[in-house]
Amino acid sequence: MTCDLVIEGCAILTLDSGYRIFDPGFVAVGSGRIVGLGLAGESLAYPAARRIDARGRLLMPGFVNVHTHVPMAAFRGAGEDIDDRLSRFIFPLEKSLVDRQLVFESSRYCLAEMARSGTTCFADMYYFEDEVARAAKQLGMRCLLGETVVGFPAPDAVEAHGGQDYARRFIEEWQGDALVQPCFAPHAPYSVDEAHLKAIWSEAERLGVKVLMHLAETEKEAAAFRASHGSSVRYLESIGCLGSGLVAAHMIYVDDQDIEILSRRGVAIAHCPASNAKSGRPIAPAYKYRAAGLRLGLGTDGPISGNGMDMMGVTGLYPKLQKVLSGRRGEVGAREALRAATLGGAEALGLADKIGSIEIGKRADLVLADAGDFNVQPVYDWYATAVYALRPHNVRTVLVDGRIIVEEGRLTTLDEDECKAGMRAIAERCRGEIARLSKEQSP
Ligand SMILES: [Zn+2]
Repeated sequence: MTCDLVIEGCAILTLDSGYRIFDPGFVAVGSGRIVGLGLAGESLAYPAARRIDARGRLLMPGFVNVHTHVPMAAFRGAGEDIDDRLSRFIFPLEKSLVDRQLVFESSRYCLAEMARSGTTCFADMYYFEDEVARAAKQLGMRCLLGETVVGFPAPDAVEAHGGQDYARRFIEEWQGDALVQPCFAPHAPYSVDEAHLKAIWSEAERLGVKVLMHLAETEKEAAAFRASHGSSVRYLESIGCLGSGLVAAHMIYVDDQDIEILSRRGVAIAHCPASNAKSGRPIAPAYKYRAAGLRLGLGTDGPISGNGMDMMGVTGLYPKLQKVLSGRRGEVGAREALRAATLGGAEALGLADKIGSIEIGKRADLVLADAGDFNVQPVYDWYATAVYALRPHNVRTVLVDGRIIVEEGRLTTLDEDECKAGMRAIAERCRGEIARLSKEQSP
């Protein structure tokens, strides 16, 4: 039988349970799946419609970015260094500027950056997620999209908590799509009231969808729940809103008792080292989460929070900061870091049966990087190379679901110039309001 594509001659990091490496190896793709895998010499057994000679390159599973707000690309670089930026700058900015057009154009632009740097799947929380879905379909990217619910009027809803109705409609419309998985995204335990948190939780369970939420993220949140329940994790436990369907982003302000609860409830962690650092917050104890057996993926956070949307940045930062936190050089090795950025993310999002590693039967979400560039060679340890040396410009070809969406560094599914022009127009529309708010809120 002829398959669709064979990529051969490259080093392959499979990230399977035995951490097999084929160097040089091959991967055969048919009907969106990986149908063949092994040493390069065996590839001739796979006749293919197309063959890519990938000698000198590295093939890995696509990056899974477990926490983003892609429509915020329009605001990248705005209101930096303002204390309590979320309530003083971002919420007012969103109120006056966010609409469907901004969400679509910004998402498309942000996804272009993500795809070009090797991300094949992402989990997003924002408003008008149906527009993010539209952009993701255009690019051909896999995603989990959660409509934000928040306890005040928001761009997608005039009523407080109105996002819940929007989310329900969005879920009905998109559930069952091959690439886009809809879900709920209550903003945080302090910005959504108890009754709505409970209602969202039971609705998510009934519909069989995930819940994305910011949790234990800020000192203000920690202080608010410390008095009443001990911590925000304990508060959610007390109202029955913790479980394996929750992907909790940040998870900074926790103690050992919280980690025990999270582990017992099977909560997944979205660890965002770059945006946490930029906010001046403590380092989240990710190595303790892993030691407790929790599923853990890595996230860039939004383009205004971490600023870079490439997963390579956070994949390198993750082990570095955990080494600082633990005081041990051996803490979070390179292999463990790459696993978190790929299979760990897939596990966190409940997609590990489909993606996250290169194994026969899984969907073909793959990244092929140039291993011959100045910043890459020499290579002695492929994991160290992948985690600490690779940069977005090394990414050459990206496949999602067996489809090539980036080829030799160019997007195949999008007119890049048109996409950039769309963002320029949106930025012009935002410029006045951003200047006004920056002036008003700067220290
Ligand atoms: Zn966030």
